[in-house]
Amino acid sequence: MKVLMLSNPYDNILNQIEIAKKLNFDGIEIVLEREIKKMFSEGKLEILKNEGFIYTFHLDNSYNIFNRKDFKELKNICKKIDSVAVLHLNCKKELFESFIKKVKKLRCQNIVIENLDHSIEELEYFLEISDLNLAFDISHAFSFNSKSKVFEFIEKNENRIKHFHLSDCKFFEHSHLPLGNGILPLKDIAKLLKKASKTVTLEIIETEIPEIDYSVSLNILRSL
Ligand SMILES: [Zn+2]
Ligand SMILES: [Zn+2]
Repeated sequence: MKVLMLSNPYDNILNQIEIAKKLNFDGIEIVLEREIKKMFSEGKLEILKNEGFIYTFHLDNSYNIFNRKDFKELKNICKKIDSVAVLHLNCKKELFESFIKKVKKLRCQNIVIENLDHSIEELEYFLEISDLNLAFDISHAFSFNSKSKVFEFIEKNENRIKHFHLSDCKFFEHSHLPLGNGILPLKDIAKLLKKASKTVTLEIIETEIPEIDYSVSLNILRSL
């Protein structure tokens, strides 16, 4: 299991990379905003490449794949991405088919789709009608589904899940809390993640003390 830190889009990216390294993360998931978008358009991504350090990208909420202008920008960015790129499944079941068509048109091998407030049944259906793979957000899944359903889904779809997101959460709430501050059965999750042996990004957004919360959460995850 390799653990990544989610970048804070409001801070300088090189600074964020230094923090991730200092805290002993294996890599960073870069939220595509502001200066990163600029770096993409100016072709300055080389400075991000650092040997042995993993980079994934989070294509973020600010893109709506159904919007023409966003789609065009997204397509340009996708051409330049050579590692895992997470895109939100920003629609309900009725629109899955059109969503999948749009993603296909991006022609990006690296895209993985992140579940939001979807039920396990909806996600099963999504996998059934597409060959796209998932970035499975454990806390999103837990906020809206039972533990047994979530665990069953992960084990059953091991080969379709390429990346994980993890933060603690409360029931029926889209929260991104430090580990240990919510309802997640962390011991069982850590066991499952270690067995799956994929990359997992910690997404601690609701915090006033990000460095401390990231460090504590990382230690909890590794020690379980
Ligand atoms: Zn996300
Ligand atoms: Zn997520």
